[in-house]
Amino acid sequence: MRILATNDDGILADGLWELVRELKNTAEVVVVAPDREQSATGTAVTLRQPLRVQKVIPRLPGIETYSVEGTPADSVILALSKIIKPKVDLVISGINPGPNLGDDVLISGTVGAALQGYLRGLPALAVSVDVGTSRSLSAAARLAALLAQKIETNILPANIFLNVNLPDLPTTEIKGISFTRLASKSHINTVEEGHDGRREYYWLVRQKINDKIADRKTDIWAIENGNISITALYTDLSNRPALPLSDGFCSDLLRQLQSC
Ligand code: MN
Repeated sequence: MRILATNDDGILADGLWELVRELKNTAEVVVVAPDREQSATGTAVTLRQPLRVQKVIPRLPGIETYSVEGTPADSVILALSKIIKPKVDLVISGINPGPNLGDDVLISGTVGAALQGYLRGLPALAVSVDVGTSRSLSAAARLAALLAQKIETNILPANIFLNVNLPDLPTTEIKGISFTRLASKSHINTVEEGHDGRREYYWLVRQKINDKIADRKTDIWAIENGNISITALYTDLSNRPALPLSDGFCSDLLRQLQSC
């Protein structure tokens, strides 16, 4: 099996290389990742400037490694369409030292990178740990390798996009593995104001919500209660089921628009 390993923390990040260290035991791994920290860049792609790629010396010998002067999504798009030949069978993004849960997946560069693999018809995993300890990173790497094996042997379907998060516990104390759905909210977004001596500035702040989540089917509940959370993600963001609106809503709306 050939695997593209990438991340949003940059080509030198420990989490990425812990992942590679584990995967290379059972697979052929190619690394293509941003040249610097790109956390919280979500699904961003670079369309208005050229992208430079450099073949670099890997942190582990024998691993073909490229750094990209772009976003995590850029890295995967370039990897799959230009850099890597022959083609890979799986994309794994991570391991992110910090959770990507609930609505966080919408800004996560870790998830944004994996998404580009999924959009190109490959199975894709985004892997994060609650706390980036070496214990958590190595457990997450082992889990990623096991999931890769299950994809290779068709135990998991090939058209799959999984968001995986691990709690900060020794593996023997992990309570279970839950297939979850995303919790609706993980953070409160606020804006702080300051003054740098010359000008005012604003600083976007994301604070973790401390209220306990009650819904046991969600990813945040799973992590907070000592479980590994695996959420199957889909690219269809449509509201399901559709809004409960009357039959006449659209025709009324159009009539109002036309009479404006
Ligand atoms: Mn990150």
